[in-house]
Amino acid sequence: MQGKVALEEHFAMADTLMDSAVFFQEESDWNEIKGRLLDIQDRRLREMDAHGVEIMILSLNAPAVQAVPDAKKANELSRQANDYLAEEIAKRPDRFRGFAALPLQDPDMAVDELRRCVSDLGFVGALVNGFSQVGDEATTAYYDEAQYRPFWAALAQLDVPFYLHPRNPMPVDSRIYQDHGWLMGPTWAFGQETAVHALRLMGSGLFDDHPSLRIVIGHMGEGLPYSMWRVDHRNGWMTGPKRHAAKRKMADYFNENFYITTSGNFRTQSLVDAMMEISSDKIMFSADWPFENIDHAANWFDACSISENDRLKIGRLNAMKLFKLG
Ligand code: MN
Repeated sequence: MQGKVALEEHFAMADTLMDSAVFFQEESDWNEIKGRLLDIQDRRLREMDAHGVEIMILSLNAPAVQAVPDAKKANELSRQANDYLAEEIAKRPDRFRGFAALPLQDPDMAVDELRRCVSDLGFVGALVNGFSQVGDEATTAYYDEAQYRPFWAALAQLDVPFYLHPRNPMPVDSRIYQDHGWLMGPTWAFGQETAVHALRLMGSGLFDDHPSLRIVIGHMGEGLPYSMWRVDHRNGWMTGPKRHAAKRKMADYFNENFYITTSGNFRTQSLVDAMMEISSDKIMFSADWPFENIDHAANWFDACSISENDRLKIGRLNAMKLFKLG
């Protein structure tokens, strides 16, 4: 399929490059990824051309800004990354768009940077790498917490989507992975971490207060499409007060406020399940370059057994509409 839009596609600057190194044990793998991460205008465009990707919405690698506990430094790193990305997009505005990196260590700073990115730099949304470390390495903040309500209000007012991208849980929250390090990262821990964060947002009542918010999650929904029914119906026959602030079923928020992408999860069976839960109107093609290969994503997606109408929506039209790329 020609004209695809891909939106979980990352780059790195020299200052954030090493954040990605921990995920690669073999030097040859890291050398390959390093080159891909630092490139925007060369190899990346050739891959896009070869596999029918017209537009990439680019975002900084992970965890980057979210792992800088000092809010002022996190803000400086965000501004540096966003300015660099804007310069790169300006070279090929027909092929690239941008997601803002945001210093959510300080909600006010995050609002200011989001406004600057959307209004001045023309970015189409934000991509944030999970929870932020705030003040010191060990203190973490999730965005359902009360201090983030003004941030969400600003995001709703600016009317741009928010991509909740994975990061690994902190060591204190990783006991279950001890001696099983292979489960960290994209194998399992990324999805678990991000799915719980997404459920926290749903349960907090955030979407009752801001029903227009649009959250994007990757990797075919981080397992959520498969589990939403059970989230709402566990012990459903028992009577008892609900234990969350949200007014509605979690599946209602998932269906109305969430979009998912195919990043790193190129499996037709999983796509079909997601289509049956959240619908083909809410799924968007992505690869997760440079950590996954564009040919793996595109060759699978272009040939998978879905209707051509759904392929067009998932491959292009949903993203064109959501991010107003027309
Ligand atoms: Mn990614």
